[in-house]
Amino acid sequence: MTQNNHNHLIKDKMPFMISCDQATFIISKNQHEKNDFPTKMKLMLHLAMCLYCRRYNKQIKFLDKIINKVKSIPDLNSFQHKLSSEQKKRISNSIKNQ
Ligand SMILES: [Zn+2]
Repeated sequence: MTQNNHNHLIKDKMPFMISCDQATFIISKNQHEKNDFPTKMKLMLHLAMCLYCRRYNKQIKFLDKIINKVKSIPDLNSFQHKLSSEQKKRISNSIKNQ
């Protein structure tokens, strides 16, 4: 049996096996769009076996949480709006008083 045949056999038996490169690619792609079910299954299988990608997945999810939290802080988003609406009031009041 040649090396090529051997590799081919392994691939045929385990088509769900993906490399770390593929796994990290799927993980980062997952942040922007939904992966299809077979891709998700492949990733889950890889994460079950691979400590490094599991760690990478955790870190990305953690970062994502922080980013979402910062985005969801209302004061941070409305601060400028609040300020400008108050300024508008002040401006309109000063115009009325003139
Ligand atoms: Zn991996």
